[in-house]
Amino acid sequence: MSLLEELYRETIMTHAKAPRNYGELPGADVVIEGRNTSCGDEITLYLKSDGGKIADVAFTGHGCAISQSSASMMTELVKGRSLEEARRLIDSFKGMVVEGRQPTAELGDLQALAGTAKLPSRVKCATLAWNSLEEALLKLEGE
Ligand code: ZN
Repeated sequence: MSLLEELYRETIMTHAKAPRNYGELPGADVVIEGRNTSCGDEITLYLKSDGGKIADVAFTGHGCAISQSSASMMTELVKGRSLEEARRLIDSFKGMVVEGRQPTAELGDLQALAGTAKLPSRVKCATLAWNSLEEALLKLEGE
């Protein structure tokens, strides 16, 4: 393993062991349940919006280190962002893990998941939280 791969692995394990923004969010505007049956990952995403922004976001769930660390890092990154920014970050992240695009700096720690693009069976683990976020934003817009 290269030094960079080791660093990435450490980032993923740190978030998986002690996920940020973990817990239910009372008074959430949207609650989305996401499931990745191919690996057994589950997350429930809670989102509170205010004036076109993500005022608060949290999640609960269980599953592999990739799915849980991706959810942890995602909530950390999008909290306080505008819905438009969140949508751009979804595109950036999915571009990286689904299409294997070069990661953008704005993804921060999430760049640690770039390697999953080379592991087709893990792509769904990495994108689970992000698909839930996408669904949450659609639901918000529909209201
Ligand atoms: Zn998984």
